[in-house]
Parts: sequence; C-alpha cells; structure tokens
Amino acid sequence: MFDEEDKLKDECGVFGIRCESKDINCVKLTYLGLYALQHRGQESAGIAVFNGKDIECDKTMGLVSDLNYNNVIDNMNGNTCIGHVRYSTTGSSNIVNAQPLVIKYKMGNIAIAHNGNLVNADVLRDLLEDGGAVFQTTVDSEVMANLIARYAKKGIGIESAIQETMQAIKGAYALTIMADDKLIGVRDPQGIRPLCIGKIGDGYILSSESCAIDTVGGEFLRDVTPGEIVIIDDHGLKSIKIQEEIKSSLCIFEYIYFARPDSTIDGISVYEARKAAGMRLAMEHPVDADIVIAVPDSGTVAAIGYAEQSKIPFGEGLIKNRYVGRTFIKPDQELRELAVQIKLNPLRKNVEGKRIIMVDDSIVRGTTCKKIVGLLKSAGAKEVHVRVCSPLVKYPCYFGIDTPERKQLIGANSTVDEIRELIEADSLGYISIEGLLESTSSAGQGFCTGCFSGIYPMAVPREGNKHLFEKR
Ligand code: SF4
Repeated sequence: MFDEEDKLKDECGVFGIRCESKDINCVKLTYLGLYALQHRGQESAGIAVFNGKDIECDKTMGLVSDLNYNNVIDNMNGNTCIGHVRYSTTGSSNIVNAQPLVIKYKMGNIAIAHNGNLVNADVLRDLLEDGGAVFQTTVDSEVMANLIARYAKKGIGIESAIQETMQAIKGAYALTIMADDKLIGVRDPQGIRPLCIGKIGDGYILSSESCAIDTVGGEFLRDVTPGEIVIIDDHGLKSIKIQEEIKSSLCIFEYIYFARPDSTIDGISVYEARKAAGMRLAMEHPVDADIVIAVPDSGTVAAIGYAEQSKIPFGEGLIKNRYVGRTFIKPDQELRELAVQIKLNPLRKNVEGKRIIMVDDSIVRGTTCKKIVGLLKSAGAKEVHVRVCSPLVKYPCYFGIDTPERKQLIGANSTVDEIRELIEADSLGYISIEGLLESTSSAGQGFCTGCFSGIYPMAVPREGNKHLFEKR
C-alpha cells in the first residue's frame, strides 16, 4: 500500500482467538494475525490475553514488530486473546489511546478492540460523565466499555449488556471483546466495517480480514453479519442477532484500498472486485497508449484489470521503496518535498518515450499525484494518462477513516478538468459511482459511498461539526 498524504488514511484492525487445546498458542497466533492486519493501522499495536485470573495486556506505539516480543511470547499465556492495530481517527496518537482497552468492572474484566467510529460518542461520553464516569482515554472504545459495564448485571450475561450497548451507540464498529475467557465479536447493524470468523483446531478466530485467518493457518468460516453478536466460550460458538436485517452498508473503500487483495469480505473477493473496477475504468475512460502502469501497491490489481480490458500491456513503471515506514517524512519541508522520490522511482526503461496509462486507487488532495506525473515525465514519458479507480472523493468520512476537511479535498473543489490541469496529466478519468458499484456488487450487497455521494447510511453531524471527529 502506497502510504502518503494523498490517500485516505486507513483505520484499524482487530483480531481475536479462543482455543481450549493447549497445543495452540493463542498469544503467538494473535501476534501473527496482527502482522497480517498491519496495513490497517501502523500507529500502535496491542495484545491482551486472559491468563485464567486476570487480563494481561502489552501495547506499543508503532508497528506490531515494536511490541516486546519476548514479553508477549514468553510471559503472556492463556486460551483467549485479542489484538489490535490502530490508526487514530478519534483520540490522539498516544499510548494511552492504544488498544485493546482493558477495564475491570463489577462482573470481572473486559478487554475491547474497536475498528470504526461512533457518531454519537461525544453525547454518550457527556452523559456518562454527568453520571460520574471518569475517562482515562479519548477513544470511543472506552465509551462502549463503560456502557457495557453499566448495563451488566448479576445473573445476566455479558451478551445482554452488549445488546443494550448496541441500542445506545450509533456509527461504525467491528469489535473483538474479551470478557474474562469469553471471546465476543460484534458488528454494527449496517456492517460498515468488516469482521469474519475462522476455525482453528477446537477453537475459533475473529478477524477484520480473512487474510489474517489464512496467515495463522485457520479456515475461513463466514463473515459476522451486520448486527450480529458472536459469543465463543467453552460451549462453542453462539450467535445473537440484535435486530432484523437492515440494508448493509459496507464501506466500499475496503475494496478500493483498505483491505488486502487476498481477503474476501462479505462474500466478495477484494482482488476480483479491484480487478473488475479496473476493467470498468477501461470501458468508461479508454485512451490509446503503449503501457498500463500502477501506482504501487494499491493501484496494481486495478491496473491489471485495466490492461486486460484495454488489451494494452501491463508493466512496471514505478518501483516502490518498501523500506520506508509510515512515520518517515515528517521532519521538515525539504524532506516532505522529497517524500515521493524517496518512496517511488520511475523505471526509465519502461516509461521513456512511452504513452502511459497510470492507474491509482484514489486522489484525495492531488498533491502526490502531481508529483508522480512529474516523475514519469522527467523520466521521459511522452504522455501520462491518469485513471482513478474510485469516484471523486468530495465528502468527509464519519465512520473511522481519516479524511481531510472538504476544503482540502480536491474533488470537492475542482472539476475533473481542473484537476487534470493541476496534476499536469494529459488526460484524467475517474470510475463512476455506478461503475464501481456494479463492479463490486454480487448478491445485492449494499455499500456506503458517503465520501463520493454525501449520502451516508445514517445521520451524521454537519460538516461544521466534523471537528468532533478530529484528533483530540
Ligand atoms: S464515507 Fe467513504 S470511507 Fe467512510 S465508510 Fe463510507 S465509503 Fe467508507
């Protein structure tokens, strides 16, 4: 995934595993599972395990590899474990806000890992504070943990407390929860964020994406359905549906950019969807050229689709430096300016004297795209035709994806032709919303397309209130 300022920033990844068998090391598999979800968040990582008495937790700022491996693998043991990788949208980038969040309450211990964003977290937080609650963090997960603790009563299972919490919260959430040795998965009623179930030995896995189930040697069973609570304990797996099916609204950006191409989400292969979108893009915006190239890595699959449909050969035109971390290129303006060159270098042999179609997954601000077009031209490209596998990003996201304010979204403020001029491309084409939906849909699946259309699957704060979702 090419990570820079001209992309929507990814969200978080959650993982969980519960096994009875001592042959399966749940902590180790969570550690591996988080590696497979690393693309979903690189600001912090954490693992929590129930050791038979208490919940132990190890968290770090940075990558999964920054976790204290010796402590995690040698000292943490138990048959139920959850993990989290984070990119902060709500709540500042600070170890205090790293997850899983662990609390003690009257019925025991809870650890919670959350992917998504609540649209009413501030209101709920105020109400809870008015009632005497004290918060240690600024993340939505603590609001949910507080509600679960408040609703939990003796003789009533944690399931009921979670159901009541789901009635109060609004927004996007895929959760893995550990309530002592119970592993629980929860997906919001519109299924905005993904969550799936796998089987391993005598146990079960929960994961944001199926690629992590593959990585730990598990077998993919199914997706958690929108509005479903899955409880895994020593009786096996139980499912509770909190309400009748409502139209699902999975974030369509999962297929465009966020998810790994080797994942399947809600029955649709991310690879197939991305390739079909590239093919559709070729139908909607054909152009004569010598070679189709991708902005690596997230544009690659769509570029393969574009090439197949257009019968123009696919080739590598940009080589990505895979050893530049996410937090690089912050220190000063000079380094910022060099960021694109440090991350990408044109393959002169493939681009010199050629008419190039460059496929990218999205354009958010336009600044990076312009630099890449410039790099290709300075490497001798005769023409650069930019093709974008998402529609114009015109509106912010309220469901866990870090979007700039509208004034910084190039798609909200300029026409396609103005953008073409700004990025100095010879032509520019975006896939249409209809084209994207048709290339992604299979069995009547519904999607959120809010950042393209401004139509969201639920009421959201007005633009002026978007600060509520900015980092605090
Ligand atoms: S607004 Fe855009 S990024 Fe946010 S959930 Fe909807 S489709 Fe995804």
